[in-house]
Amino acid sequence: MFNKILIANRGEIALRVLRACKELGIQTVAVHSTADADAMHVRLADESVCIGPPPARDSYLNIPQLLAACEITGAEAVHPGYGFLSENARFAEILEAHGVTFIGPKAEHIRTMGDKIEAKRTAQRLGIPVVPGSEGGVSNDADAHRIAAEIGFPVIIKASAGGGGRGMKVARNGDELSVALATARSEAKAAFGDDAVYIEKYLQKPRHIEIQVLGDGKGNAVHLGERDCSLQRRHQKVWEEAGSPALNAEERDRIGGVVAKAMAEMGYSGAGTIEFLYENGEFYFIEMNTRLQVEHPVTEAITGIDLVNEQIRVAAGSGLSFTQKDVRFQGHAIECRINAEDPRTFAPSPGTISYYHPPGGLGVRIDSGVYQGYRIPPYYDSLIGKLIVHGRNRVECMMRLRRALDEFIVDGIKTTIPLFRQLVDDPDIADGRYDIHWLEKKLAAPA
Ligand code: ADP
Repeated sequence: MFNKILIANRGEIALRVLRACKELGIQTVAVHSTADADAMHVRLADESVCIGPPPARDSYLNIPQLLAACEITGAEAVHPGYGFLSENARFAEILEAHGVTFIGPKAEHIRTMGDKIEAKRTAQRLGIPVVPGSEGGVSNDADAHRIAAEIGFPVIIKASAGGGGRGMKVARNGDELSVALATARSEAKAAFGDDAVYIEKYLQKPRHIEIQVLGDGKGNAVHLGERDCSLQRRHQKVWEEAGSPALNAEERDRIGGVVAKAMAEMGYSGAGTIEFLYENGEFYFIEMNTRLQVEHPVTEAITGIDLVNEQIRVAAGSGLSFTQKDVRFQGHAIECRINAEDPRTFAPSPGTISYYHPPGGLGVRIDSGVYQGYRIPPYYDSLIGKLIVHGRNRVECMMRLRRALDEFIVDGIKTTIPLFRQLVDDPDIADGRYDIHWLEKKLAAPA
């Protein structure tokens, strides 16, 4: 096992990783920008290193500084968290070249899955069902029209290098298609430095359902069931559940089995998520994330398995601590992403937290790095914490979530807590009746 791990991240996820390290008896190194000198992850780590000024490209994305921090502290491994360098294959390779272990999958797998055209091709080859669409990239108008005629309108044009919900264009007919193709290509070039785009069928009312996997890198892989992340705003997840209100145990086992087999065949190492759209009882692969996800705690809640602990074990060569037959799904869990934002306009609301009282009690977990008197810097993501609630069934989980939201006090800044108080009382949510468009429609409707 490692003696010392450097955590190349900030905020709640840096704390989350730190907790797993402490439970394993591993020393921790925090890194931080000058804006984060008083952050909780810095305070709780055994050592800390300042890696640069506030802008992420000069600090949290600064590979030479991170390498130097490993060198100075003698850290043997790096956990990248999510975001920042977590899906940067080059970072993984550079660390390995310097004798530092990257806690994540092999660089080649990060690279393959980071290119969405290649990812889809790989998924298909491994027997995973994909959204009908072009075989690879589409660069000319004639091809686009031929493919659209085959799969039928509406279609969606997506950037191969896209991410974070950006670089997608929907076309409902032939006229829109020519314009959409040209704009998608030039926008992709501008945003990602790569104009490769592909076409797929635009599904009208799908749910977003994703499967958590863990591989040991030696040909064994397990799945930990699904998360339903259909409640989205601008293609960004807001509320996540495990399990999905739309799946039964048979469907879970079937898709989980397909995915685990594919990951085993690939020799995948560490944690990963296979994302699907789910419509009319069918799964359609959209992408794979080769890292820990923001919403991983709902899976931990219903399985009792510490995903970060498993990531570290696999990276250290100790393999997984359990097999598929040991996995039991118990109860239901929901996560609310608490952002420092106006709950109606979603405008960022950085500033100082004047009073802070998180909820507690049975089945309530808070993953957050904030505290009373903490000043939220304006430079980073607006996620300030996650409320995760677990109950023996979905009804109990919702009751518990309602009371936990009631207890939650964050004064001095605006947060999205009031939005969740509304959602938890909505009859559609109570019934689990929602697709990927539900929340945006709700937000657009007059109150
Ligand atoms: P990103 O990597 O930018 O997050 P994804 O491919 O994961 O992009 O898609 C993000 C979201 O966009 C999905 O959760 C879904 O809401 C929507 N989306 C993507 N592909 C389709 C599609 N073929 N049909 C309908 N909606 C889609």
